[in-house]
Amino acid sequence: MINVHSLQKSYQDTPVLHGIDFCVDKGEFFGIIGPNGSGKSTLLKMISGVIKADAGDILLQEKKLHSYPRKELAKILAVLEQEGLPPVGFRVREVLEMGRFPYQNWLGEEKQDVASLIDEIVQMLGLEHLEERTLDQLSGGEKQRVALGKALIQRPQVLLLDEPTTYLDIGYQIQLMDIVRKWQKTTQVTVIAVLHDLNLASLYCDRILMLHKGKQISVGTPKDILQSDRIEAVYGTRPIVMEHPVHHLPQIILQSQV
Ligand code: ADP
Ligand code: MG
Repeated sequence: MINVHSLQKSYQDTPVLHGIDFCVDKGEFFGIIGPNGSGKSTLLKMISGVIKADAGDILLQEKKLHSYPRKELAKILAVLEQEGLPPVGFRVREVLEMGRFPYQNWLGEEKQDVASLIDEIVQMLGLEHLEERTLDQLSGGEKQRVALGKALIQRPQVLLLDEPTTYLDIGYQIQLMDIVRKWQKTTQVTVIAVLHDLNLASLYCDRILMLHKGKQISVGTPKDILQSDRIEAVYGTRPIVMEHPVHHLPQIILQSQV
């Protein structure tokens, strides 16, 4: 679905990404991890076409990403950014409707009747009782579900998520990740998610790319990537890695250094 070749990016003269090479298969749940400032958001912004690489290529369904017209790209790729919602004042249902922009003409009209599609997503996200509220009347977890809804309404083939669970409590973290997984199972969407929580990355990702100081350390399954030596080399702290008793995936336990 996505091929990334020898990607490089600098801001002014400071290199922030170099030697990035990986593929993401259709229907895969692909994670990107790495310490703060390692280039995760920059990489995601390049995959969404928001910023251009200095060198290297990104292919989307074997065609260069930059050869897609913006609206065509928006029919294929949707992004859940951390501050991706419009200013307050808009109602939940209006925000969701905005997600249909790739399918609308310049009058904001669409051929297809989308009310039932919106209803379906409202129900899946448990937003029924919030539809008429404005964004400023929502909690953090509710807002994040609306932002996800706006991305899903685009009916993308690729869903890009940048730290979707930041500021959410554990209940909302699992709820949001489960919604994405369920949606993925029914629609075969390809998910690329920047995740700062290594344990969530382990539970949800088929494969994980680990970045450190703009360099690709490795790509592999959670078991390959989440090893204490590797984590220590990249994050500067050595966790204990254990097998999850139910999911049989690695989970890390932090250790105090003093
Ligand atoms: P991450 O998402 O992993 O925390 P980012 O991709 O946001 O990392 O940033 C990678 C590096 O690039 C950081 O050192 C950051 O300061 C720098 N950076 C990010 N955006 C810009 C920008 N627009 N201009 C200059 N430097 C930037
Ligand atoms: Mg970031």
